[in-house]
Amino acid sequence: MNKQENTVKDPGELVDMFSRTISYLRLSLTDRCNLRCVYCMPEDGEHKLHLLQYEDLLSFEELLRIVKLAVKMGMNKLRLTGGEPLVRRGVMDFIGSLADIDGLDEIRVTTNGVLLHEKAAGLYDAGIRKLNISLDTMKAERFRHITGSDMFEQVWQGIETAASLGFDVKLNVVAMQGVNDDEFVDFARLAGEKPYQVRFIEFMPVGNHSTWNRASYISSSDLKKQIGKFGKLEQFPGCRMDGPARVYTITAENGLKGKIGFISPISHHFCDTCNRLRLTSAGRLRACLLHDREADLKTLLRSGATDDEIRCLIKQTILDKPKGHTLAEDRLNCSGQMSRIGG
Ligand code: SAM
Ligand code: SF4
Repeated sequence: MNKQENTVKDPGELVDMFSRTISYLRLSLTDRCNLRCVYCMPEDGEHKLHLLQYEDLLSFEELLRIVKLAVKMGMNKLRLTGGEPLVRRGVMDFIGSLADIDGLDEIRVTTNGVLLHEKAAGLYDAGIRKLNISLDTMKAERFRHITGSDMFEQVWQGIETAASLGFDVKLNVVAMQGVNDDEFVDFARLAGEKPYQVRFIEFMPVGNHSTWNRASYISSSDLKKQIGKFGKLEQFPGCRMDGPARVYTITAENGLKGKIGFISPISHHFCDTCNRLRLTSAGRLRACLLHDREADLKTLLRSGATDDEIRCLIKQTILDKPKGHTLAEDRLNCSGQMSRIGG
């Protein structure tokens, strides 16, 4: 493997004002997507989607330069997201180059699964082992309603293909009252029947066009009560937190056992332990998903900046990372597009 030069890191560079070490970079590779989830990229006339032009995206060369610098600074974990990361042309070669970066311990991908039936093997060959796949329903008709597409079967096949190749598969389910609440128990059962960790995410009011409203929100504790009717939930020994998820084992009456995660950005936010920095598909550094403060890395990069200047902006963005978000207080500081930020 063509490993990159390894230089001495100063871990202090990645510590923010609240003593959190920022070791995890999330790249939104594109704001484009082959689905149109109603809560993320609604397509109606009034809220016409404003998509970036190709030249507005950072090129793969630019992205590689940033990732290498971030890794030299001590970041060791990367997530590729979007939009749909797998629709970007050339993404597989890009992932191959990322895999060659010495010091980058793990690359994970968040995907809607539409292209997994054809790309899963290539991802596995590139060394990716962990996939988060979004699936809010197991009903084809409802899938069409939520995503605007009839590709449920293809996504399902993609999930099965990924699991059969040996990927650690996590299914991300956005919990929406009145939309998929009658399937929470079915998803819990699925976690027992298949080797997938099912992770329920609290529905967040992100972006100006979100379909979020108070009635559609269900907290993780209410969700747990519903799922508790299907089986006994116990905190997973030795792995209470998996990233932002609180992980439980579920044991059904018939003995089925599975793993369920709850991601509760609203009811139990995890800001105190947040270790993330985001790079949006518009090339802006963003220290908090739910706070619109961003730094324009793309303009700096394209003005001929030196590595030190880029490093300085990364450092400054980390120092400016807000202590936490204010969703629970009903003060929303996030009007950005989820597909551009990357979730
Ligand atoms: N297209 C990929 C996918 O859907 O997995 C990656 C990008 S998507 C923006 C990342 C994650 O954000 C998905 O799991 C999606 O369900 C979640 N998401 C989007 N909008 C959300 C919202 N308002 N509340 C909670 N999760 C949301
Ligand atoms: Fe696309 Fe993911 Fe947004 Fe759905 S949640 S529209 S799949 S980017």
